[in-house]
Amino acid sequence: MKNPFLTGPAYQAFRKDIHHFVAQNIKPYAQEWEQTTQFPDHLLQLLAREGYIGLSLPRSVGGQGKDFWHEVIMAEEIARGGALGWVVSLLVQTNVAALLLYELGTKDQHQTVLKPALDGAGWLALGLTEPISGSHLAGAATTATVKDDQFVVEGEKRYITNGTIADHLIVLANIENHSHGSGLGLLVIPADTKGITRDRLPTAGFKTGDTAVIHFKNCQIAQTCLLGKPKASYLALLKALQRERLISAVAVNAVSQQVLDQTIEFLKTRQRFGEPLIKKQTIRHRVAELAARVEASRQCTYAVCHAFAQGQPVDTEIVMLKITAFETSQDVIRECIQLHGAEGFLETHWLQHVYRDSQAFTIAGGTSEIMRELLASMLLD
Ligand SMILES: Cc1cc2nc3c(=O)[nH]c(=O)nc-3n(C[C@H](O)[C@H](O)[C@H](O)COP(=O)(O)OP(=O)(O)OC[C@H]3O[C@@H](n4cnc5c(N)ncnc54)[C@H](O)[C@@H]3O)c2cc1C
Repeated sequence: MKNPFLTGPAYQAFRKDIHHFVAQNIKPYAQEWEQTTQFPDHLLQLLAREGYIGLSLPRSVGGQGKDFWHEVIMAEEIARGGALGWVVSLLVQTNVAALLLYELGTKDQHQTVLKPALDGAGWLALGLTEPISGSHLAGAATTATVKDDQFVVEGEKRYITNGTIADHLIVLANIENHSHGSGLGLLVIPADTKGITRDRLPTAGFKTGDTAVIHFKNCQIAQTCLLGKPKASYLALLKALQRERLISAVAVNAVSQQVLDQTIEFLKTRQRFGEPLIKKQTIRHRVAELAARVEASRQCTYAVCHAFAQGQPVDTEIVMLKITAFETSQDVIRECIQLHGAEGFLETHWLQHVYRDSQAFTIAGGTSEIMRELLASMLLD
């Protein structure tokens, strides 16, 4: 079923353009980047040149002034490019970090941090997770204390997407002694500030991405690095994380569909017992069931996107999607590997890359366990 919200000619033309971009600049190289663990840094500038960054942000800050559905189309098309690690990097930049900067930033932060990020000249990272607190976001121990007219930042952030490549880090910290108040809040910190060390973490998947550990030791920054006001900016962060979950669900559904489509093509050509595998009843039933689950996930995601774009409250539904869309995708990927026989077990097979990536689907952006905890409290308390 076509998405009833995306049938207009402007959306179709936009999808065609992005599809072409992905076919030209990502698909032919993705497998090589994957195998050489290469972060395709240059793509950000290419995308920016085409006007594909900051799609839904206003033109006044360097965005494209389009609606949320353009972000949806973008997420679907780039997810099909085969470089999922990099896709995560882009979505963190465009659908969380840039958004927070736009909503909370001063004019100066818009000019010096947001604008270059939207121009493709700078990467952004969002440092929330800590070894000490992990899933318990509000338990962050990083501190930013005002001393001698400056903030002194101390702490450690782990598993941070874009951690080593970012030019600016948006960091969750306990703000202390600031005239705007104390409490959990955000800072936007130039990544080359003295006192910051960053190391790439060797992850099992997302080989085209960048995941890092970041240490802050006696890191002194100007008070103007505060992003929004403590407590209020923490609430804005929770809101931005919901949008990240929604747009990631869009991308993950696209991955599920692509994996299934390519598996169907494989089953049509693989001859066993005198006919293509796709003719076997048990295989047909498995494929049919997977197709039903992917379609249900996608249509539900579109419905939530529609409500979200209209400003309706969809927090509960987004948490539901964070569980169902991502777990559906993991199931689809696992089943499709089985349907490929030993070929799908080869380390260099494209499905193995997706399989390794998919292990992070139910961890990054909030684990399935935490999402169930959150959903239960939304529904039952
Ligand atoms: C690829 C990738 C990219 C990431 N990018 C970023 C990023 O850009 N910025 C950032 O800040 N973080 C990022 N993260 C970190 C991610 O948000 C955390 O990994 C996640 O929130 C879980 O924290 P943790 O790994 O410390 O797990 P833990 O909190 O240690 O949890 C371990 C296990 O226990 C379960 N658990 C924890 N608490 C409970 C509970 N109360 N009840 C039941 N089960 C529980 C968890 O679900 C999990 O299965 C990224 C992670 C990955 C894998």
